[in-house]
Amino acid sequence: MRPVLVVTGGSRGIGAGIARMAAARGFDVAIAHLKNLPAAEEIAGEIRKAGGRPLAVQVDLAKPEDIKRLFEAVDSAFGRLDGLVNNAGIVGDAGKLADADPVMIKHVVDINVTGAMLVAREAVRRMSFRFGGHGGAIVNISSTATLTGAPDTYTWYAASKAAIDSLTVGLAKEVAKEGIRVNAVSPGIIDTDIHRSGGQADRIERIGPQIPMGRIGRVEEVAEAALFLLSEAASYITGANLHVAGGR
Ligand code: NAP
Repeated sequence: MRPVLVVTGGSRGIGAGIARMAAARGFDVAIAHLKNLPAAEEIAGEIRKAGGRPLAVQVDLAKPEDIKRLFEAVDSAFGRLDGLVNNAGIVGDAGKLADADPVMIKHVVDINVTGAMLVAREAVRRMSFRFGGHGGAIVNISSTATLTGAPDTYTWYAASKAAIDSLTVGLAKEVAKEGIRVNAVSPGIIDTDIHRSGGQADRIERIGPQIPMGRIGRVEEVAEAALFLLSEAASYITGANLHVAGGR
């Protein structure tokens, strides 16, 4: 039986790369996405082509009832859960904290922090020995913005990802005896739509040369790290945070 993986934000960018690679490596994959139906359908098609069963669920991770519905859909479609990649995240509108819209800041925290916690909660309730599950692995997608603080652009985003790092450490210890490993992957600057979404379309060109390796990263390079942490090759690794950032 193929293991089942949930990838939030699996329709585009890093999540899509992880979903694609997971299907190629033997997973059935449920992707959660917000509104880009054509992108979700395309990834679902690729999962099917790779031999996996796909499930695409439209949800808003800012809404707790949507998170519940996502996992109920996974229960009905697959009847089991083996892994979660807590990947969906947003940056908000770039700028300084003092100029930022409070509603925007709250929305970023709702999705990146509360949403990620509630998603992890549902996954633990299915995979943990304590709840009758057979174990599993969680990979939280953080960011190296936790190290820089992202001044003048996304301080709220950097802070939200620092929360993800703490969640990773605490939850890893909490469920270590319940058959679940919890790790984080912290990407540096990766070539996806997220930079354009924050009004920073030139960010990739601007920052690339400043990175020690002299270039930004590819989605596949992040996906490799996530798939490693999900795999049995990482069987004694929990609470770790793997930076995929070209030395940044
Ligand atoms: P992206 O290309 O902007 O894709 C975002 C994904 O999240 C899409 O699948 C989108 O769905 C989904 N999504 C957004 N808001 C959502 C919501 N409210 N509910 C459900 N799904 C939602 O992002 P990315 O660059 O791949 O980033 C993925 C993760 O990596 C994020 O956590 C990000 O913070 C982190 N990260 C990225 C970078 C980077 O340089 N790219 C660096 C460090 C960390 P739709 O397609 O339906 O809109």
